[in-house]
Parts: sequence; C-alpha cells; structure tokens
Amino acid sequence: MTNAENKKVLSGLSLAELEEFIVNNGEPAFRAKQLQNWLCKKHANTFESMNNLSKNFRSKLEDIAIISDTKIKQKLVSNDGTIKYLLEYPDGNVVETVLMSFDKRPNLTACVSTQVGCPVGCTFCATGKRGFIRNLKAREIVDQVLTIQRDLNISVTNLVYMGQGEPLLNYDETVKSINILNSELEIGIRRITVSTSGIVPKIYQLTEMNRQLVLALSLHAPDHELRKKLMPIEEKYPVEDVIKAMKHYAEKTGRRVTIEYTLIDGVNDSTEHAEKVNKLLKGLKYNINLIPYNPVCGDKFKKPSMERINRFKSVLEKVERKVTVRLERGTDIAAACGQLAGQIL
Ligand code: SF4
Repeated sequence: MTNAENKKVLSGLSLAELEEFIVNNGEPAFRAKQLQNWLCKKHANTFESMNNLSKNFRSKLEDIAIISDTKIKQKLVSNDGTIKYLLEYPDGNVVETVLMSFDKRPNLTACVSTQVGCPVGCTFCATGKRGFIRNLKAREIVDQVLTIQRDLNISVTNLVYMGQGEPLLNYDETVKSINILNSELEIGIRRITVSTSGIVPKIYQLTEMNRQLVLALSLHAPDHELRKKLMPIEEKYPVEDVIKAMKHYAEKTGRRVTIEYTLIDGVNDSTEHAEKVNKLLKGLKYNINLIPYNPVCGDKFKKPSMERINRFKSVLEKVERKVTVRLERGTDIAAACGQLAGQIL
C-alpha cells in the first residue's frame, strides 16, 4: 500500500512485509526488525526520532515511506477516562476505536473495528443502522492500535474486536491483524477477545487455528423467534447451531467462551428469558456479561431498571456464578457497546 505521493505506508505491516520492502530498497533485512521496534514498541511519530538507525537510512525512509496514513479526525475523552477516536483512512472512510482503562488494574484495552459499517444489521446497534461500506485491511486494523499508542505514548495490553463490524465476516484480515498484534506488539493471545454475532462456519474455522483467543458471542436473545427480530443473522445461522459451534470451540481450545447479552427493557429481560438462557447454554463452559442497553439517539429501545437487571442476573446465577453486569464506559461520548456509528459528535 502506497499513499498519494507513492510512498509506502509502514505502520501496521507484518515484519515479513516490512523486510520485503526494506530488502527491495537495497537495505539489509535486519533493519526491518529495528524499524518495527520503533513503530510497534516505541511509538515513534517521525523517522527522525529513530536514533539508532543511521542518518542515511532515516533520510532514505523520508523519501520512500511514511509512518501512517490514518488520521485522527476526532478524539473525545469521557468523564470515566474512556477515549473514543474517530479515525479516517485516505479514502475518506471513518471508523471508531475506543481505549478503556479499568480502575485498579494496569490494563489498557483497545476496542477495534474490522469493517466500515456492518452488514449484520442488528436492530439495536448504531453501526448496524449505518449499513455496510467496506472491509478493513489487516494493516488498517493494526494501525488503529498503533495510532492510539503514538498519540498517547502508551502500550495497549488487551484487545477486543468489538468495534464496528462483524470480525468473522472479514475473517482473513481479522486473523492476520491478530497475528501481527500478537507477534509484533506482543499483546498476549489470551488477552485478545474476538466477538461474533454467530457466523457458524467461521467459528469452526477459528477453532481449527487452536489458539488461546477468547471467543465472545453476542447472544442477546434466548430463542430463534426473538433473536430473529433483534439480529437478522439468526435467519441464516439459528441460535441452536451457533451454541453447538461455541461448545465445539470451548471443548477444542479448552477455553471458556464469553456470552454477551444486551438487556433491553421489556424486550429480552424477563425472568422467563433468563430461564431460557440457562437452558440454552447448558453444557457450555462460559462467562456471561450483561450489558444494560445504551440508548442510541432516536430509537425505540430503553435500558431496564436496576431491579430488572438484578433479577435477571440472579436467575442466571442459579446455574453459573460468572455473571457480570458490564460497567458502562464512555456513554457520555457514545463510545459504549452498540453506540459506535462513525459520527462526529
Ligand atoms: S451489534 Fe455487532 S454484528 Fe450487530 S450490527 Fe452492530 S456491529 Fe454488526
């Protein structure tokens, strides 16, 4: 990938891609490793600052390459410290990437997008309402994380693939980005979560990789009829088949899966719904996150009362103790789950 001036864009490339570029430009391969270190670990914003590279090499890089072509179009900081970035690619498309830190833990979690818009069209989701525009390349996904690192001079420790888009519908680029983020940024594979709406064949394909990723399922409804109304993907991949695939993943990898369940007032939050969730998930090793619905401007859904949330939770706890109500982060800047829609606020 080159920019308008025909310069190579380096941030987000794999080491092999960087090596190929370096060697093709008459430099020894080991320079790629040094360069990657500056790009991925030292958050360098300029070639000039890469002071263990020779002056000649640095000035050559200025002529043939640029660090990144991802622009920060907007940056919003929430009262709770969550930061939402609106990032723009050279074709004018924008995605959101969110950085969250959790009190008392040194973790810095980046929530990345894998597509511009999303083809799945969940009725309660701001991204779904926007429609699908295009898949992101692995380099573009990786550069979301590197852009944050350069901007704040920090190192991201955890990743969640829960921003805009369905990662498993952009499978190859998603997996390639995971490999780069794991090997070049050294983000532990067990600290990476991929969230899916339930693309059954791709769950099986991901299982075959046999890596220690956390797989999260956006469940949101315990039966076919209700799920169909909230998530059109249910027509293609019925929930019973999805749970079968999730069981296969948990058994093969030995990892507990995560279930995400957005609680919408009067829609999917009754005790009967909770009983049905228990029945549906029987035999699966899971943690479950309850996400009180975050209102999206002008929609018909509402967040349940604390009383309803707690009642739902206590029914789930009868069979599984690992039930958490997810902390709402960044709601004041529309960075919470289901609120990412690529808008300037
Ligand atoms: S909830 Fe996820 S899968 Fe559904 S439309 Fe939104 S981004 Fe796509």
